[in-house]
Order: sequence, then structure tokens, then C-alpha cells
Amino acid sequence: MRYKLLGIEEGSAICDFCHRKEITMLYRTLDNETGEIHSFGSSCILKALKISGEDFGRMKADKELKELKKPYEFNVFHIGNRTTANFMFNGVLYVRTYLRCSDKKVLTDSPFCFTDTKTHKYLALPLEIRKEFLAFFRKRAALEKILST
Ligand SMILES: [Zn+2]
Repeated sequence: MRYKLLGIEEGSAICDFCHRKEITMLYRTLDNETGEIHSFGSSCILKALKISGEDFGRMKADKELKELKKPYEFNVFHIGNRTTANFMFNGVLYVRTYLRCSDKKVLTDSPFCFTDTKTHKYLALPLEIRKEFLAFFRKRAALEKILST
């Protein structure tokens, strides 16, 4: 992608394309080929960069994906025929091993129980936390889909 969206700012500044004072949103963009940073008003950005609405959607998705944060420290590893999930919760590392499966399966598996690596006690994740995880994976998948088209 030639252009990268750096930020969307409210306020007034001069649009680099039409040179009028914009009073709505300003889109700050980086041109990866020239290294130049520009600010464009919302009504000018497509014309200024000569990009389609789809390209603009990808620019926004790319930025959102980079800023998307995991709700908790949670990592899934796929090694051989095993899938291992590590989950840090309240300062304790929990682990669970599965026969190889998708990240989504790890989160939707029932019962969603992790073992404390020190005490070997089980932690059943509250439904609310599972929902946060699922929302995170859904959002990430949606953004990746936009970027892959
Ligand atoms: Zn403008």
C-alpha cells in the first residue's frame, strides 16, 4: 500500500489538497514512496491520493489492526499435532493443551478451563472474559478480511 493512514484528527488546519481551512476531520497520511506527510480533509482525501473508497477502507483497516489490543495476554501456539494456549490472568500463568485446533476453537471450547502452572488448579474463565476474547478475534478477522480483498 503506497499510503499509510497516520491519524485522524479533529480541528482546523489547511487541507493540503484544496488549501481551504477544514473544520471537520483531518486525515494525516504518509506517502511511502516519497516519505511525505500530508493532511487532507475528509472530502478531499480520495481525490488527493487518487485512491478508491476500497483503498481508503484498507488504509483505515490497516491502522485499526495495528492498534487493536488483545484484551488479555493470551497466546496460542500450534506445534505438531498439539495446540497450546497460554493465558496470563491476575499475574498467574495458566496453560491448556489441545489436539491441534484453531484459535477460535480454543476460545469456544467448553468447558473453557485452564490449569495454573504452579498449583495445577483449574481456572474456569468467566463468560464475560470469553466474550471479550471472541469480540477481539471477530474484530481482527473482519479487519484482516478487508485487508485481504
Ligand atoms: Zn481539501
